[in-house]
Amino acid sequence: MSATCGFIEFGGHNAEPFPTIPGDNMARKMRAARLHEVGGTFKIDDVDIPQVRPTDVLVEVKAAGVVPNLRNVVTHWPEWFPFLPLPKLPAIYGLDAAGIVSEVGSQVRSGIKVGDRVYVNPGLSCGTCVACRRGDRIHCSDYTFMGYFGFGPGAQELYEDYPYGGFGQFLMAPAANLVKLPESITFEQAARFGYLGTAYSALRKAQFSPGQTVLIDGATGTLGLGAVILALAMGASKVFATGRNKELLQKLHALDSKRIVPIALGTRATSEVVMDGTSGHGVDVLIETLGPNAPVETVVDSFNALRRGGKAVNVSGVSDKIPLDPFPLMCLQKSLIGSNWFTPAEGEDMAAMADAGTLNLAVFEHEVFTLEQVNEAITAVEQRGGGFTNVVIVH
Ligand SMILES: [Zn+2]
Repeated sequence: MSATCGFIEFGGHNAEPFPTIPGDNMARKMRAARLHEVGGTFKIDDVDIPQVRPTDVLVEVKAAGVVPNLRNVVTHWPEWFPFLPLPKLPAIYGLDAAGIVSEVGSQVRSGIKVGDRVYVNPGLSCGTCVACRRGDRIHCSDYTFMGYFGFGPGAQELYEDYPYGGFGQFLMAPAANLVKLPESITFEQAARFGYLGTAYSALRKAQFSPGQTVLIDGATGTLGLGAVILALAMGASKVFATGRNKELLQKLHALDSKRIVPIALGTRATSEVVMDGTSGHGVDVLIETLGPNAPVETVVDSFNALRRGGKAVNVSGVSDKIPLDPFPLMCLQKSLIGSNWFTPAEGEDMAAMADAGTLNLAVFEHEVFTLEQVNEAITAVEQRGGGFTNVVIVH
């Protein structure tokens, strides 16, 4: 870790100390909710505010999303997914943070300055593996989410470089991870960018284009609702939307009653409804967003709703094996693509769409908690009313 500190450097464009940091340079403390043991509750601790390194920024967090899966991650993850490492404890969690840039490192150049409103894409990459050197950082062999979990054996080193998350008053992140937010996007809305971005990237990976049709499986959920509003923003002609809760489906339908076709799971086969609604062709794209316990028959049914040459993207937590017949897959040239996250560039696209008014972020109902109420927030997110509810910690 470099000892260089943007706070005390001289001669650069960012040389002056910034007034938002409390205390002097030697005793800069912040409050952060940290997990001390697997399965435990979060405790509020005083921890050091990091000294900014040359290519990093310090962000004063204003809002942090509470991920519906968080309790599982901090309770069962090491046992369920030992290949997805958690940070060493005690650790600050909080995947989706939005706030204000309060310091910039000496090598942070144009585009980012103190006072900017930003979302912090928490995806960290090593910078030197084959994928990173190819400029494909999201496929880094050690890709790691700040304040959540990692995907490779090198995650621990990345956590040590960036041991921060949205449940702290400040966090340090690489400047390249920032998504700038226009005034029209609230911090609470931006705290939803992780789920929105995952849905957006899935649509892009399916090469979804204006005028096309899409089936969102699990459309009333946290990920699914994002996929619906992004498909509408991207010019979908028809969005078939499955869900179990009829009330939530109605609410979803009301967002755009002409383009959204609600499908109640457990009644008629999804593929039949889709074929009827597409003159027997099927949809161009399927975005699979169902939860871990969804029956695989539902997934196969949705896959059968794809047209010839159609693309399915799996961003779901479905954990059972999906019995897909390879021969018709070849004959019909269908694709099944896996995806789990998005790039800062895709985040910038979403911010621009929201600012232009094509992406409607007003659908979310924010349930706001203070940092001290973090454990209550985690309980609240488990009892949420579908994807419309957005549980947020506000600093
Ligand atoms: Zn890498």
